[in-house]
Amino acid sequence: MQIQFLGTGAGMPSKQRNTSALALKLLEERGSFWLFDCGEATQHQMLHTTLKPRKLEKVFITHLHGDHIFGLPGMLGSRGFLGGSGRLDLYGPKGLREWIEVTLRISRTHLNYELAVHEVDEGTVFEDESFIVRALPLDHVVPCFGYRVEQKPLPGKLLSDRAREAGVPKGPLLRELKEGRDVVLEDGTAVKSSDVTGPPQPGFTVAILGDTRFTANAVELAQDADVVIHEATFDRESAHLAGPYGHSTIIDAAKTAVLAGARSLIANHISARFLPEDAEHLAAEAAEVFSPVEIAEDFAEYEWKDGVLKRIN
Ligand SMILES: [Zn+2]
Ligand SMILES: [Zn+2]
Repeated sequence: MQIQFLGTGAGMPSKQRNTSALALKLLEERGSFWLFDCGEATQHQMLHTTLKPRKLEKVFITHLHGDHIFGLPGMLGSRGFLGGSGRLDLYGPKGLREWIEVTLRISRTHLNYELAVHEVDEGTVFEDESFIVRALPLDHVVPCFGYRVEQKPLPGKLLSDRAREAGVPKGPLLRELKEGRDVVLEDGTAVKSSDVTGPPQPGFTVAILGDTRFTANAVELAQDADVVIHEATFDRESAHLAGPYGHSTIIDAAKTAVLAGARSLIANHISARFLPEDAEHLAAEAAEVFSPVEIAEDFAEYEWKDGVLKRIN
């Protein structure tokens, strides 16, 4: 799993930071990526990455402020032109369906693929055999959701010695067993996957939170998460603005991560008042409460692997 930031600014684009969007890359896990928010020019940002719009499988919208959705209609239109023919699922608060339908109709944008719009409420918004996504309302100035993405446990590692002892030949049967399916050998012997594989491996959990004041629901979504992505519009000095505008400080983000027992924190939605060289100062404020913390930059890419968050781009 990798996370790539396409826009990390708050409210308006600046030269350093575009408006909100990030890609959860699940290319190894499911051959696709998911987008969380789609601020203006997200598709332009994507042109500077290896992300292909045709591989976009789902879009989760945290709330309907323009800096989180104004890139969506253009992205939906381009996806079809760029070979995206599979269904696209769009999740977000009530009002998203009306906005997208009116925008597409009046601009005469015809999609050549199925678009399924799901207006979410708190609880499970998506589940299949390998992932579950839950949403809870946050505390912003308009209805806003945070999402918790959990990968279900993965089949255990293949124990080659045991498989050999059981008489399993090299080849496709090994793969079947490795993927959790029982098999029958040529001589009629049944071999159970659980007999030749180790215990199931835990999947990853990432919490992606929208604009919010400090709130218990954010802590709940981030509970024991491997990676928490939390807005940090303000710092200690500008903290008096956080409440009135429905936002958090970098310290609120760190507090959420520490109370949740999370393993790592990435702060995004950074006000244009902070210049790139202020990232160190923001990280230092967070580190008083929680570490490790990263201050996201546009195009920065992180990988969660073997229990560690690493910047890879
Ligand atoms: Zn915002
Ligand atoms: Zn907002």
